[in-house]
Amino acid sequence: MRVFLLSHILLPLFASCAAQAQTSFEYKGIYSPTNAEDEVRARYATNHVDYDWDLWGHNLKKVVESNPDNAVYATVADTLCKAQFCFSSPQLFSIVENYILDQYGEGTSTYSARLLIMPQDNKLACTCPDCRKLGNSEHNATPAVTQMLCRLAKRFPRHQFFTSSYHSTSIPPETKLPDNVGVFISAIDLPLRVDFSQTKGYRKFVGTVEAWKKVCNKLYVWDYERNYEDYLTPFPCLRAMQSRIKLYRDLGIKGIFLNGSGDEYSAFDDMQTVVLAQMLSNPDIDVDAKVREYFENAYPTTAQLISDYYLALENRTVSTNHVLPLYATMEELVESYLNADEFIEWRKQLDKASKGTAKPERTRLNYLLTALSYTQLQLMQLQGSTDEDEMDDMIEILRGHSELKGMEYYSESYGKIDDYIKKTSNKTAK
Ligand SMILES: [Zn+2]
Repeated sequence: MRVFLLSHILLPLFASCAAQAQTSFEYKGIYSPTNAEDEVRARYATNHVDYDWDLWGHNLKKVVESNPDNAVYATVADTLCKAQFCFSSPQLFSIVENYILDQYGEGTSTYSARLLIMPQDNKLACTCPDCRKLGNSEHNATPAVTQMLCRLAKRFPRHQFFTSSYHSTSIPPETKLPDNVGVFISAIDLPLRVDFSQTKGYRKFVGTVEAWKKVCNKLYVWDYERNYEDYLTPFPCLRAMQSRIKLYRDLGIKGIFLNGSGDEYSAFDDMQTVVLAQMLSNPDIDVDAKVREYFENAYPTTAQLISDYYLALENRTVSTNHVLPLYATMEELVESYLNADEFIEWRKQLDKASKGTAKPERTRLNYLLTALSYTQLQLMQLQGSTDEDEMDDMIEILRGHSELKGMEYYSESYGKIDDYIKKTSNKTAK
C-alpha cells in the first residue's frame, strides 16, 4: 500500500489531545483528503497520520539511511542484505534511541510520541546468529523486532511504541508486550463485503487478532476503504465498512486506521469520510440517514438526486453481497455494483441540476462531475461506444481537473489523469 512508502517523519503530536469524546475507539484515523481538513478532525475528533505519528510506516529507513554501518542490516541466506534491518543489532538500537532523544526527548506526563517501528516493506527476515538465537527464522522476524521494541518501551516509558502484524511479523511474540507497546493488525485478508462471515479471510483475521490479544493490550487495525486502481468512480463502501467496524469493536480493537486515498480527491470522499468518522464513534449509526443528512447539508439543491443514486449502490452491496475489490478494473465494478446505463443517465441529470446551484454546492459538484466524467469515459470504452461527440464532451470535462486542487491522479500507483486524457483523446481521434 502506498501509505507505507510515504515519507512521514512527522510533525509534533497533535491528535492525542483531539479524541477525548466518548467513543468506541481511542484512535480514529482516516487517511483521506476530507479528513486532512482541520475543521473535520476537530468536529469528529478523528486522527490523521500526518499530524499524530512521530514515526510512521517504513520510515525507520529514513532514520538510519545515512549511517554507513553495515551492522544495522540483515543477514539473509548468509549474505548481507541492505533491503532489511537486523533488529538485534546494538548499532540499530542506538541509532533509534538517539533519534528519539534528539527529536522527542524522554516525554513527559502529558506528552508522548507515537512511534511505529516495523521492518521494511518486504518478507525478508534477518537470520544472523544473534537474531536466530532470539528465535528468528527465514520468514519470521517477530522475535528480534519484539525484543528491540520491548527495550525501547522500557528505555522510554513515556512514549508509545507500535509494531505491525504484517509480512515477517504476522506471527505474534510468545511473551507479553509492555503496556506502552501496541500492534497494528492488517485487515487485508478480510474481504470487503457486507457479510464476510463465511470466508476464510474472516477466520484467518479473527485468529490473528485472538493470538495477538494474548500478548498485547493495545490492538489497532489497519484497514482499507478504496478502490486503489480508481479513485474517481463511486465506491459504495459504507455498509461493508460498517460490518467490519462492528467486528473490530466486538473483538476489542482499540484503534483503527482507515487507509483512503491520501491527499488525492476521491468521488464522494467528503460524505464518506464524515459518515465513517461518525461510525468510528458509534458503529451502529443508521448509514442511510447519515448519508442523506450529509447531502442535505452540503448539497441542498441536488441532495435527493445524489442520495438516491448513492444509496442504491450501497443497497446493492447488501442485496448481492458482492466483494468490493480493492484493486478493481471497470469491468469488475460493472460485475459488482455499477450499472453503466443507470450511471450515465444519473450523471446527465446531475450535470443538468448542477447548473441551478450556488457555491459552495456548485464547487463540490464541479469536483464530483469532473471525476465522474472519468467513470463515464471508462464505461463507454468498456461498452465499445462509438459516440465520439459524447466522448469528446467527457474528455473536455475531465480536462477541468487541472484547475482543481488534489485531482492529479486517478489511482494509488500515480496514474496521471493527464496521461489518461492523452491516451483516450488519441483513440477517439482515430
Ligand atoms: Zn540479525
